[in-house]
Amino acid sequence: MSRRYVCKRRSCARPRQKWEHLCSSCWSRVPADLRALIVRAGKANHFDARDAYRRAAIDVLDGKRAWSDPHARAIAAITGDRDMAEAAE
Ligand SMILES: [Zn+2]
Repeated sequence: MSRRYVCKRRSCARPRQKWEHLCSSCWSRVPADLRALIVRAGKANHFDARDAYRRAAIDVLDGKRAWSDPHARAIAAITGDRDMAEAAE
């Protein structure tokens, strides 16, 4: 059946792929290092971290919050994303 998947960003109504979180347009505007964190956390099955990075990506796209190293480290600390914490050192 053709269930339609829509970008998780509330202000966006573009279609996304089932396995993606954002539409390709929004995803392409997420900062590259944040995109890399989302992909890496997903591959590591670290879903708490991935979801936190995804929320951060939406906040960045919505202009609620700028993406920064301290923000990245805060998420890593909260979610116990040790790979990220080590990478940031
Ligand atoms: Zn979108």
